[in-house]
Amino acid sequence: MTVRRILVVAIVAAVAIVASAEEPKSPRDMWGLAANAAVTGDYDAAIKNTNDLLNAGKALGISSFPTYASSAAAMARESDKLGKKDLADWAAKTADQLDPHSPAVAFSASERARALGNWPKVFQLSITGFIRVFRNYRTRLLGQVDLLIATTLAFALTAAIFAIALFFRYARSMGHDFREILGTRFHGGSVSVLAFALLFLPLFLWLSPIWLALYWFIIFFGYASKIERVLIILFTLIVAALPIALDRAATWAAGVDNPIVAVDIDSAEASYHPESLRRMQELAALVPDNDLVQILLGNLELQEGNDQQAEVYYRHAQQIRDSAGANVNLGNRNFLNGDFGAAITFYERAEQLDPKLAIAFYDDSVANGETYKFDVQGQKLEQAKRLDTRHIERLTQTPPPQKIVVYTPPVQDAWAAADSLAQKGVAKTLFGTYAYFDLRNSAMNPITLGALAALLLEIIVWWRRRRSGYANACIKCGRTFCRLCKSARESATYCTQCIHIYLKRDGVSLDTKRAKLEEVSDHQTAMTRRNKLFATFLPGSAQVLEGRTIAGVIGMILFLLFLSVAVLTGRLAPALGPVADTTHLFVRLLMILLAAVTWFFLSLPVYRRRVTIG
Ligand SMILES: [Zn+2]
Ligand SMILES: [Zn+2]
Repeated sequence: MTVRRILVVAIVAAVAIVASAEEPKSPRDMWGLAANAAVTGDYDAAIKNTNDLLNAGKALGISSFPTYASSAAAMARESDKLGKKDLADWAAKTADQLDPHSPAVAFSASERARALGNWPKVFQLSITGFIRVFRNYRTRLLGQVDLLIATTLAFALTAAIFAIALFFRYARSMGHDFREILGTRFHGGSVSVLAFALLFLPLFLWLSPIWLALYWFIIFFGYASKIERVLIILFTLIVAALPIALDRAATWAAGVDNPIVAVDIDSAEASYHPESLRRMQELAALVPDNDLVQILLGNLELQEGNDQQAEVYYRHAQQIRDSAGANVNLGNRNFLNGDFGAAITFYERAEQLDPKLAIAFYDDSVANGETYKFDVQGQKLEQAKRLDTRHIERLTQTPPPQKIVVYTPPVQDAWAAADSLAQKGVAKTLFGTYAYFDLRNSAMNPITLGALAALLLEIIVWWRRRRSGYANACIKCGRTFCRLCKSARESATYCTQCIHIYLKRDGVSLDTKRAKLEEVSDHQTAMTRRNKLFATFLPGSAQVLEGRTIAGVIGMILFLLFLSVAVLTGRLAPALGPVADTTHLFVRLLMILLAAVTWFFLSLPVYRRRVTIG
């Protein structure tokens, strides 16, 4: 937000307040006054209004104002650019006061430090921001979503490269078998061409590369070693799961902005968002029969200081469903009006409805304390502690200013309510209310179904072809052979020629021997060169080609994960907030460094390998 826009907002807010000077001020009015005063240079008034806002927040059960904090942080950066140092300093300090735990404020301050060239501070603020990302539900969830998407990409690429490695290891043998199979029906040169074409069958059917990978998993399954077979099955399952994981990630990223989920998180974190009340009222107009919506609306009205309106919503919630939460919050209304007897009645009803709700017992104990029933107070407090030790002990150490605790529905309840509303499609006109996750729907995509079919085919094809045996390639010269062209009694790893030269060492003519040695040398050199080429661009793939499968696959996953994060960071869900360019840069550099280290460890040893001709 620019300074000018802040100014306009502030003036509009100020005019509104003059018009209704007698009514109690809501947080949005006070922030308008504070920003207005600061922009006009009256810092005493700005500080006073900010303190009023923070004190009012405390009384209303609000501990942070993330929206105002972000706009103050933006104001600090803008003022820096305009050379207004006093305003910038005030805005930066105020941003920290308005939301002491905001990742966005820390990242914004980091950008500001970068503009001033203070790099140690840039680094320190980025780390602070990162720690805050993990403490804040929304940013933590979005961070997990981003990581899930990067992991999905890394696994998809690893599966593809693994399939390519299998192709290089077993395509010659498979080609040999295709030729033998086709040879019974066709004659002449067409057999070789057809056999080669069969290795790329999905491409001739105009299918995308993912199908080629799955096809290779199927046809090479029989040739693969035991470890490779396990990995083929694993990667087929992973490919099947990838679209579902992406769908799940997308639903989380979109669903966290659902009014029910967003307000529930804000209510639990006691943070104030000026847009929330309007969004929730719009939702309640479309969905009047949801008690969760009514309870959350009540909590939002409490933040605005409209206690009577809050009570109306709580009563409505209780009429829709006589829930423990509604009773706790109705009890709280009576408690704050000084009617402790009525409050205790509501709390006791809540305890009956949900004997596991710790805050019902806690609030009950507070109310009993007010009426001097200290034995009941102690009893209820013990009960509350037994149900939720950590939370209640924290409450007894630092009791809330209003003494009693407001009920906020558990976040999983909010997700469930948001999901069911999205599935019914009743509030489609509102922002953030469409996304829901349904496993069965999500699994009905061609890639998942295709991968599951491929899994079945891997086993079936392997089982059926097992009897006729698989062709093999000579580990010395690379020539392929099968049961039909070589005696089964001979070594299974060498071709007939190599058996005579290397194992039996019997009467082979010198010319034949020399020609063979050259063939072996060419083959081995070509293999080493190929492995080095693969190692250069795709660390880990050379290890898979050499048969050191597990090390290779783990290396590939790590390298590709680092690379995916480096490429995708800052481009997915805004987990780090809107302005975090420097932090994105740090993440990118760290990931590139880790990818380089992985490359070093995996690819350098491959470079050092010598051609061995024994
Ligand atoms: Zn050989
Ligand atoms: Zn053969």
